[in-house]
Amino acid sequence: MTHQSRRALRSNALRERALRHAPGGVQSNVRFGGPRAYIERAKGAWMWDVDGKDYIDYLLGQGPNFLGHAPDPVLEAVERACRGGLLYGGQHLLEVEAAEAICAAIGWADMVRFGVSGTESVQAALRLARGATGRTKVIRFEGHYHGWLDNVLLAYKGGRWGPASDGQVASHLDDFILLPWNDADAVAEALAQHSDEVAAIIMEPMMINAGTIEPLPGYLERVRELCTDNGVVLIFDEVISGFRLALGGAAERFGVTPDLATYGKAMAGGWPVSALAGRADLMERFGTGQVNHSGTFNGSVMAMAATTATIGLLRSEPPYQAIDEHGTALMAGIRDLGAKHGLDLHVQGLPMAFHVSFGTEDATDYRTIRRLDLARYEKLAAALIQHGIWVASRGVWYVSAAHGPKELDQTLTRIDRALKDWR
Ligand code: PMP
Repeated sequence: MTHQSRRALRSNALRERALRHAPGGVQSNVRFGGPRAYIERAKGAWMWDVDGKDYIDYLLGQGPNFLGHAPDPVLEAVERACRGGLLYGGQHLLEVEAAEAICAAIGWADMVRFGVSGTESVQAALRLARGATGRTKVIRFEGHYHGWLDNVLLAYKGGRWGPASDGQVASHLDDFILLPWNDADAVAEALAQHSDEVAAIIMEPMMINAGTIEPLPGYLERVRELCTDNGVVLIFDEVISGFRLALGGAAERFGVTPDLATYGKAMAGGWPVSALAGRADLMERFGTGQVNHSGTFNGSVMAMAATTATIGLLRSEPPYQAIDEHGTALMAGIRDLGAKHGLDLHVQGLPMAFHVSFGTEDATDYRTIRRLDLARYEKLAAALIQHGIWVASRGVWYVSAAHGPKELDQTLTRIDRALKDWR
């Protein structure tokens, strides 16, 4: 028996149990390729599994733990608020404060509707854009993720894009026009053909889910202009980029303002909550009831307390510079270790969200990402996890406010060992 397998005894036993009552042993198919260890607790940048092994976390729960795990001020705010009840089926002060906090933080939006998951808030955005314009079609982009529902989930299989899942109603994808991203001419052409039919353009304003790619200079500006000229609603899906690339998300970082934007993840210190924010003239359609948006758990006490506390912390103790420094040093460190071990490790993106792969060229869209050797990276990710670096198997790394010099030092030491053993 090897040291590693002896140490994973309790995780393995839990996996056996899980497989009996949880399909695939997981609660989200996104976790299929992920680590097998069962986590017992997490704090700051660290997680510990049931076998006592520790991990420095660069997955951050797929992004939400931007302040680090279990930030005390957020936990205290949630606990305090919970003692007065969890859910009222009526309005309360905390939801007013949370909406005010979001509008003040992102700057350009007038109003907010809360949801529970990013997937839901994307649906609300699409319905609102269609309701406001009376049009149906939506332009979207290859490799951008907007949730797991029938009308947005896409996969590239057998040389073409289509439904990703059995049971998905393929016709629900018919109202989308799929374009390569970072190509403004493609958007202009599509609008020239379909401008009277297009309600919205939706995009990750920095592509992150399938590989971290920044918008090319001028791209977002040109798409903004095309939307304005054609009466098309521009939706930034900031579920990953929001509150992470800057307090005001990608809109602030790249200086381009959408009409609607969706948020989640980094917004609430790990709490499950999402938001759709936008201009009053659009959002008021929810207020008049012309466009329906509902949800039992929208604006729950816990979610609102967590949102307000998180945004409060992001404003009072902005972590952005420290994250930038840590991420920049880590990106450089990974490149150096790749060179040291004779591996063509490629690192691209921004310090708070970057992508590690094998290759030499910077990707500018999903087509270039697809040419990367993803299977090889998956094997490397498994080796990194074995050495106590918790990362996504698909290459994206997130840095939190809790990653400091000690974590950086340990991370590079562990990566060095992992690369040495892996070859
Ligand atoms: N949009 C984007 C850009 C996302 O990154 C995600 C989640 N990765 C979603 C939507 C869906 O959010 P959720 O998983 O909370 O439903």
